Amino acid sequence: MNIIVLKPHKEESLLRFHPWVFSGAISKIILSPSYPRDAPQEGEIVQVADYDGKVLAVGHWQVGSIAVRILAFGVETLPVTFWHDRITAAWQLRQSLGLVRDDNNTFRLIHGEGDFLPGLIVDIYGDTAVMQAHSVGMHIQRGEIAQAIKECVPIVERVYYKSDDTLPFKAPITGEKTGYLVGQPSSEAHWAKENGLEFRIDWLNGQKTGFFVDQRENRSLLEHYSRGRDVLNMFCYTGGFSVYALRGNAKSVTSVDVSAKAIELVKDNVAHNFPQAVNHTAVAADAFDFLNAEDKRYDLIVLDPPAFAKHRDAIPNALRGYRRLNAKGIEKIKPGGILFTFSCSQAIDKEMFRLAVFTAASQVGRKVQILHQLHQPADHPINIYHPEGEYLKGLVLSVE
Ligand code: SAH
Repeated sequence: MNIIVLKPHKEESLLRFHPWVFSGAISKIILSPSYPRDAPQEGEIVQVADYDGKVLAVGHWQVGSIAVRILAFGVETLPVTFWHDRITAAWQLRQSLGLVRDDNNTFRLIHGEGDFLPGLIVDIYGDTAVMQAHSVGMHIQRGEIAQAIKECVPIVERVYYKSDDTLPFKAPITGEKTGYLVGQPSSEAHWAKENGLEFRIDWLNGQKTGFFVDQRENRSLLEHYSRGRDVLNMFCYTGGFSVYALRGNAKSVTSVDVSAKAIELVKDNVAHNFPQAVNHTAVAADAFDFLNAEDKRYDLIVLDPPAFAKHRDAIPNALRGYRRLNAKGIEKIKPGGILFTFSCSQAIDKEMFRLAVFTAASQVGRKVQILHQLHQPADHPINIYHPEGEYLKGLVLSVE
């Protein structure tokens, strides 16, 4: 194995189990004597050593500012049972969280660094696992990972690989970025269960792995606030919040998303869960166009936009976006109404987001109370040594 040797003192973050080695921390690379090239190849497994040559960890080599993503600390090679061990631990955690039930088979199995597998995401929809690699290393090992998922998670019959949007843009990739790694495509529409509701999951054409698994608990909370209310679900995607609001006996639900394909799925999901007529309207429109065009006010509004800041440089613009959107949302709430507002931008922390919402509230000049502070659920765990894994935050506000 090739050895990445760190500069003096640059081993400190590794000794605190942070799973990334930055390129600036590297002093030199010792290639193994039989290595046929003059530099490690992106995606291969390397050892990381301190300046004195003591091997501290092994991980996937990457080209870029994060040079190594650590897979295991305190070893010189990965044990042969590595993938099985990590996937079994993740599966046992999800079972202990009570997420595997007759009425719930939708959850995240692997949340990257949060499950000590940097660069790997796996969501489960009943008998189907949808897997995404965010690093070339995970891409290279996709076959054995998929096999281990099938062997360790008894409910899984097929593993679909979907990494066309997630692999590093410039990396030299060989092999397919999408396709079934285990099992066959299903000829029927696939319905997955979340808290007793059913959602059609289109992993081939849908966004991310096909569904936003991270909002499960926040949707449940919304259900409890929905009775008798006129609900507006902005950025609804496939209508998760809408379907929960309808089960919670909302007076009416309006779902808005710019994607016409998503709106078709919202309609399917509502019709499937509520075959009787329900007061639901689905609109394919840009959020600001919709909010600017309408005078109507609502008792409950959900704002769950896509990440406005994909990296740190975008933070100032993103904060402007959150302020503008939340000011619009707060304006549209009837007196005594509720706003569920979210940010899934990793680069915006909860204090920044709260300040943006505070600024929006003060611009509109309404009396606002924070009722709940929301976050990602336990199947999206945060590795305590990797605080960067915290990304979803939300506020539930009462607006007078
Ligand atoms: N709340 C959803 C997830 C939202 S993801 C759920 O629970 O499943 C963000 C959504 O915002 C995506 O579906 C995307 O199509 C939509 N979107 C992106 N830009 C938009 C815009 N300008 N106006 C309206 N919707 C937009």
